[in-house]
This record gives sequence, structure tokens and C-alpha cells, in this order.
Amino acid sequence: HAKELGRNNYQFFSAEMNDYLFERLQTEQDLRQALKRNEFLLFYQPQIDVKTQRIIGFEALLRWLHPVKGLLGPLTFIDVAEKTSLIIAIGEWVLNQACLQTYQWQQQFNNNWRVSVNLSAMQFNQQLLLEQVGRSLQASGLPAASLELEITETAMLKDIMETIPLLTALKEMGVGLAIDDFGTGYSSLSYLKNFPINTLKIDKSFVDEIVDNPKDAAIARTIVQLAENLGLRTIAEGVETLEQVEMLTTMGCQELQGYYFSKPLPVGEVERLLANGNELKKS
Ligand code: C2E
Ligand code: MG
Ligand code: MG
Ligand code: MG
Repeated sequence: HAKELGRNNYQFFSAEMNDYLFERLQTEQDLRQALKRNEFLLFYQPQIDVKTQRIIGFEALLRWLHPVKGLLGPLTFIDVAEKTSLIIAIGEWVLNQACLQTYQWQQQFNNNWRVSVNLSAMQFNQQLLLEQVGRSLQASGLPAASLELEITETAMLKDIMETIPLLTALKEMGVGLAIDDFGTGYSSLSYLKNFPINTLKIDKSFVDEIVDNPKDAAIARTIVQLAENLGLRTIAEGVETLEQVEMLTTMGCQELQGYYFSKPLPVGEVERLLANGNELKKS
């Protein structure tokens, strides 16, 4: 009986593995076509300036309109894109598209909104990134100061010898640099003094329970103070409630992003929002 159970378990596991591998292979094949078929698009999530309560910028968030599976978020395909190096080409498309779109909005609505673009560790490891960023800015006309790159601590610390010259070169171009999901990666703070960054992004996991959990509140408060002391900006992500807005505001966090203000929106909806005078309908 035990043997039978074992065999069944094995078969169950094996079937699951097969599904998983098949799924991955399928995703990889589909990804290779996706750029050519123009299946990627960017959603834009507003970032709010606490002082003015108005939109100060947008985070560009990648989506894939898959011909069979429909609209997919990045968590369903980014890891495959990274393992296959397709992320380099996709990342370049994201940079180009985000710069073109943002410059168009700046012109159309006579504003100087910023756009934040996420970089994966793999993109970040490449000298090629400098060329890609330079080309995207030049081709779009977007001022370098309107572009901010979001990088996680883990990606930054992967190869410090490469990171510092790369960050320095980006800074010299005038591009802003943000640490995404701050507080969830490596806990060493010493790099903060050597890396020429502008912004700390307080991770959603600290924002989630900031109201009920004094430890999360203490961490968020400490991040804001740390940033202040280092001359950096803070932005909180995943803000969903008025209570969170109030606490983060009291702490001195300068910018907020989250469903409370707006979900990531497709281009058409952003344009409707901007045409209506940048007024966010709060839920
Ligand atoms: P991230 O950069 O930390 O982006 C924030 C994620 O939280 C986004 O998920 C956003 O939709 C979601 N979010 C924002 N506000 C709220 C909120 O109030 N509540 C909740 N529950 N969620 C909120 P998304 O779009 O699925 O992106 C997931 C991750 O995928 C991003 O995390 C980023 O690491 C990565 N990613 C997105 N776009 C790109 C890209 O163009 N290139 C690369 N390399 N990675 C990307
Ligand atoms: Mg991000
Ligand atoms: Mg983040
Ligand atoms: Mg996050």
C-alpha cells in the first residue's frame, strides 16, 4: 500500500512538474514573439505630491496582452524574461515607450511629470544600459531629469564594482535613481553613502500595517528620517487607505503611490484624468 501511495505521489509530482515545465517553455516561446507582435503595453500609476495633493509623476508598469491568456502582469513572465535574456530587449522597449509617452504628455498638458521605470537586476548589470537610456532620452526628447530608474537593493548590490560607476554615469546624465522596495533586501546601509541615489521607495509591506502595527510604523518613520538626513526623497508604495495617507504625511513622506489614489491605468485613462485637470477621484 505504501508503495502504491509512493508511486501515486510520484506521478502526481511528475505531472505537476511537466505542467510547470511546459508552461515555462510556452511562456518563453510566446515571449519571443511578443515584441514582434507588439503585445506589450505600459500601464501608468500616478504618484502624488503630498504638499500639493497633485500628480507629480507616474510609475510605468509592464503588461502583456497575451493572444490567448489575456492581460498579464509582470509577475507572470518577468522571471522567464530574465532567465532567457529577453528582458534586455523588453527593457529597452519599456524605456523607449515610457520616455516617448511621458514627453508627449508633458507637451500636450504643459507639465513636467516624471516617469519611473523599473529595471531588473539583469538589465542593471550591463554597460549597455547607459546606451539604452541615452538613446531613449534622445529619441523621445524627454529631459533626463524627468526619468527616474527604480532598482532594488538586491540588484544594486549584486556587483558593487559595476554598480558605482554605472550609477555615477546615470547620475551624470541627469537621470534620477530610486531604490525600489526599500527595506526588504540586503540590510546593509553603508551603500547608501556611496551610491548616488535620489529616492527611497518605502515598500508596500511596511505600508500595509502601518496603522495597526507599531513596528511597521517605526520602520517607515525611520526610513523617512534616514532619507531626510541623507538628503533623499521618500515615496511610499501600496497606499490604500486614508489612515495610511495621514500617517505617512505626518511622518514627512513626500510622495505617495497606491490604490487609494489610483490603480495603474492604461494610457487612455491617464489622458482622461489629465484632461480633467489632474483630479484624482479618491475611493
Ligand atoms: P514594483 O515596482 O514594486 O511595483 C509596484 C507593484 O504594486 C505594481 O504591481 C503595482 O500595480 C502594485 N501596486 C501599486 N499600488 C498598489 C496598492 O495600493 N495595492 C496593491 N495591492 N498593489 C499595488 P505590478 O504592476 O504587478 O508589478 C509588479 C512588479 O513587476 C513591480 O513591482 C516590478 O518589480 C516589476 N515590474 C513592473 N514593470 C516592470 C518593467 O517594466 N520592467 C521590470 N524589469 N520589472 C517590472
Ligand atoms: Mg517599482
Ligand atoms: Mg516597489
Ligand atoms: Mg513592491
